[in-house]
Amino acid sequence: MSGNYVLTCTSCQHRHEPSISLLACDKCAAPLTVTYTESPDGRSPRLPLGDPDALTTLGEGGTPLVELPHLAAELGVKRLWVKLEFLAPTGSFKDRGSAVLISMAKEHGVTDFIEDSSGNAGASLSAYAATAGLNAHVFAPASAGQGKKDQIRVFGAELHEIDGPRQASTDAAVAFVEERGLPWLSHNLSPYFMEGMKAFAYEVRTSAAVNVDHIVFPVGNGSLIGGAFKGYSEMRESGVIHALPKLHAVQASAIQPIVALLNGDAWTPDTSATSVASGISVTRPPRLNEIVEFVRCSYGSGVAVGEDEILAWQRRLASTSGIFAEATSAAAFVGLEALIANGVIGAGDEVLIPLTGSGLKEPLP
Ligand SMILES: [Zn+2]
Repeated sequence: MSGNYVLTCTSCQHRHEPSISLLACDKCAAPLTVTYTESPDGRSPRLPLGDPDALTTLGEGGTPLVELPHLAAELGVKRLWVKLEFLAPTGSFKDRGSAVLISMAKEHGVTDFIEDSSGNAGASLSAYAATAGLNAHVFAPASAGQGKKDQIRVFGAELHEIDGPRQASTDAAVAFVEERGLPWLSHNLSPYFMEGMKAFAYEVRTSAAVNVDHIVFPVGNGSLIGGAFKGYSEMRESGVIHALPKLHAVQASAIQPIVALLNGDAWTPDTSATSVASGISVTRPPRLNEIVEFVRCSYGSGVAVGEDEILAWQRRLASTSGIFAEATSAAAFVGLEALIANGVIGAGDEVLIPLTGSGLKEPLP
């Protein structure tokens, strides 16, 4: 054990000794986060690994930043960038978190584990489990894209297809954890996954051409926006930057727990609700309060968007810019339009959107 961090409760701040299977505060059951006992250097993310050279990696990170000047002009912003997070080893942004989570599991002697996912995280963790020599049980909706399900299987993981909405896969995973007594490496609950996501912020920060005022995220459980907040916060703590970009959260109108809380809107969770933005169709994100706090601390906003608009932007991005992202990623563009329309983002602003998943994984509706 490295001894350079503890696991802190995101609600009552109670501190716990590091453990791979501890997913909630033992005082109040809120999610945990990694808190380091050493100062950041601001040049690279702090990681909880005892031996940084022991990172299980498939070459994740270093994704391309592409400027879209024509779309920037059409939308009325100074500059618009996309970061092609889907150009990762398994085709989604999740690989950054999987590298750290699987490395921590290996360091703690895990051989078999359970995970639940809408598809991308399950595929990603399965790939990293394969290269690390771990056995994965992945619970995913039967309705997940065939490409995602094939990926999980080809990496040698055992895929448990669960009928019903995304929440049903989590419920089935929890029941299986109790039945088998295996660790649940929930990418949403484990504090280690988000640590891997911090690298996103460092990469954007060190891209000389990019001076971004706003980042607009599609948000389900919030691991990327959370990782970005933690990464930028480390850089601020070390004095590398003085202010964070505004981090905005976009969700589908049908499933908007984070956005509704941000905006003070009435919204009743309906676990049968679905969205074309499958990657953000999360009715009960366990880190709800933490993510809302991150958005508020960055002076960001929450935006709920419609289904038709998401699909229209998926095609518009492809036909105007040659980029085929999954519908989940396209939701951020609908949110960007709304943020421009209501004056949150102005003509002099530079904006970045992470394209979190590949369109190749899901057939067009
Ligand atoms: Zn607590």
